[in-house]
Amino acid sequence: MSFIEIDRMTKFFTGSLKPAVDSMQLNIEKGEIITLLGPSGCGKTTTLRMIAGFEQPSSGRISIGDQEVVTDDYSVPPEKRGIGMVFQDYALFPHMSILKNVMFGLNKWSTRAKKKRAQEVLELVGLAEYADRYPTQLSGGQQQRIALARALAPEPHVVLMDEPFSNLDAGLREKMRFEIMGILKKANVTAIMVTHDQKDAFAVSDRVVVMNEGVIQQIAEPREMYRCPKNCFVAQFVGKTNLLSGVMDDDLQHINTQIGRVCLPEQWKEDLESESSSVKLSIRPEGCRLAEEGEYRGTVEHVTYSGEFQELSVRLQADHAVSNEPMVIYAPVEQDIEIGTT
Ligand code: ADP
Ligand code: MG
Repeated sequence: MSFIEIDRMTKFFTGSLKPAVDSMQLNIEKGEIITLLGPSGCGKTTTLRMIAGFEQPSSGRISIGDQEVVTDDYSVPPEKRGIGMVFQDYALFPHMSILKNVMFGLNKWSTRAKKKRAQEVLELVGLAEYADRYPTQLSGGQQQRIALARALAPEPHVVLMDEPFSNLDAGLREKMRFEIMGILKKANVTAIMVTHDQKDAFAVSDRVVVMNEGVIQQIAEPREMYRCPKNCFVAQFVGKTNLLSGVMDDDLQHINTQIGRVCLPEQWKEDLESESSSVKLSIRPEGCRLAEEGEYRGTVEHVTYSGEFQELSVRLQADHAVSNEPMVIYAPVEQDIEIGTT
């Protein structure tokens, strides 16, 4: 049995014919960091709110640890689920010191125990010396660590975080990903994060759950998700890619595409239904290389320089044309390429 089990969880909001979350099936192990990743409106926040108990599923079950928190017959209130929540805007109390903010969630504890525990978690997030300051005297990244310290203080089984990095600028964001993951692992807590940003998801998660329109598309470790996306949605949402149309060869070992015949890797064969002869092939921009001579010819239509590499838009010549879309290809910055180069 997994630590958290979500079984066929569905949510219909009143007045909507389409479920916001559709028959979700997800098991999470103790100590795992899981991220729900998907475009805006795909049901991430609704999923988190149902796990926390702020929203009731229309049907389905949830268990956390050895406690069934949602069944067909009853629902355990949020405060009895052993969950810590980090909100997008941190929701710190401006009129309370950092120490008081962190002690806030410990109302049933004695004052002495509260103080001791608050100091412990401030230590854990590396901000013990800020205990007497007020939230406005801290930077955005520090406020976020305080919010996490407050969520961790009551020793929850699970920490839920909704878009935790969205209020941070790019540089701080990268640093915080690293720090938050370290803190969660040190606290040995199970965590579920929500984001629409693939880089956030890949940087902090043991496993990523990609969602679209309320439906889980794939559950996988970041590397696996990137290398072997299960469908076109995942291939396009997780990183950039070129999707080529192809037709399955009669030998069931090859795909014929407009840029050539591709041999199927062994692990893909079992995933393909033999009767579907028309397929899509995903080729990542970094999986292509430009050369002076070669089998395929194309013209560079755009060059976007990003510092680490250059992103090219290349339209293949007619007999190799892949739909009408130009291909996205990454080239090293040293390679001399101009618009119009063939
Ligand atoms: P995400 O967090 O992935 O952006 P949400 O879970 O917030 O998505 O929303 C999923 C869908 O449910 C959206 O279509 C949204 O409009 C709808 N929705 C969310 N909350 C409510 C609500 N309280 N009442 C009605 N519809 C809602
Ligand atoms: Mg949301």
